[in-house]
Formats: sequence, C-alpha cells, structure tokens
Amino acid sequence: MVDDSLESISGEVISCVKCRLCETRRMAVPGEGLWSAKVMFVGEAPGEQEDNLGRPFVGAAGKLLVELLQSIDLRREDVFITNMVKCRPPNNRPPRKDELASCRSYLDRQFKLIRPQAVCLLGNSAIRAILDPKESVSKLHGVPLEKDNITYFPMYHPAAALYTSSLREVMEEDIRKLRVVLDSLS
Ligand code: URA
Ligand code: SF4
Repeated sequence: MVDDSLESISGEVISCVKCRLCETRRMAVPGEGLWSAKVMFVGEAPGEQEDNLGRPFVGAAGKLLVELLQSIDLRREDVFITNMVKCRPPNNRPPRKDELASCRSYLDRQFKLIRPQAVCLLGNSAIRAILDPKESVSKLHGVPLEKDNITYFPMYHPAAALYTSSLREVMEEDIRKLRVVLDSLS
C-alpha cells in the first residue's frame, strides 16, 4: 500500500464491520499519537470510556499509563497509543482469536507507517498475539526482546496494577528500564 496513511487507517477503522465487535461498539478507537513516535504502546482493547470517546487509554488505566510515561519524561503526545483490537468487546471480555485476526492488519499498517524503535506490549493479549501464544507477562515483563528488527518491550497492563497494587512498583521499575532501552536505541 504505497499511499497508506494513519488518517486513512483511522477512517477505515471508524467504519469497519470486519468482525462482530462492530455490532456492540459505540465508537471504534483507531489509536492516536505522533506519526514519528519512537515508541508505540499496544494494549488489549478499548474499555467503556474509550468506547464512549473514541480515544485509547482515557480511563483509569490510561491515567496510570500517562503517569508512568511522565515518570520517564514522555507525554502521551510524544508516543503512539493503540490496541490489538480497535472496538470494545462486550463487558470488556478478552478479544477472541477471530476478532484479533480480523483487526490485525490495522495494527500492522500502523507499525509500518510509524516504524517505531520500540513497541511496548501491555499485558498478555498483546504479548501473546505478537510474540508467542504460550508466553506470559509475568515471565517477559521488563526485558526487551528483538523480533523482525523491532525491539519489543513487554510490560504488565496498567489495569492489572489497578487490581493488584504491588504491580504498580513493578511497572514503575519496568518503565525506567524502557527509558534505558529507548536511550540506547536513539
Ligand atoms: N485497556 C486497554 O487495553 N486499552 C485501552 O485503550 C483502555 C484500557
Ligand atoms: Fe473492525 Fe477491528 Fe472493530 Fe473488528 S475490532 S470491527 S476488525 S476495527
């Protein structure tokens, strides 16, 4: 796709009917941020607030993500934030395999256009879909991993730290490691 652009991807996502999630979503959430971002953050799927606003990570988990970003001198405007699937699953259930597959090309096109130095995978959905279905965040978090010339950086999902408060410190430590990784790549 020679003339692809983030805007055209967003346009397609907003009117997409490629999987059943289109039937229950309020607003699709393409993702947002800097086209020249050095780092992308990939979550699981939009939640309720995201579905209401059409923007990624704008609820409680998003607030924590933004705080973590700030702790390493990044603003959400400096990065690109999106999800594995662009529409909210009913009752926030995990996205299903066929939904992940239907939605995947949008993410791959975003990767290709942004060509980030690092991709932070937030939680098991993103880690399993992109790295290895048998892996888990508890094993991979906080350590960069090279695949197809992209540096992936698995982290816990910020929503997990809202449920399990001890994970917050782990995430604070991991994001500092991400800072080191980013500094070493630039
Ligand atoms: N959780 C996610 O995985 N993505 C969002 O955009 C919000 C919450
Ligand atoms: Fe289309 Fe993805 Fe939304 Fe499914 S989740 S309708 S594939 S944008």
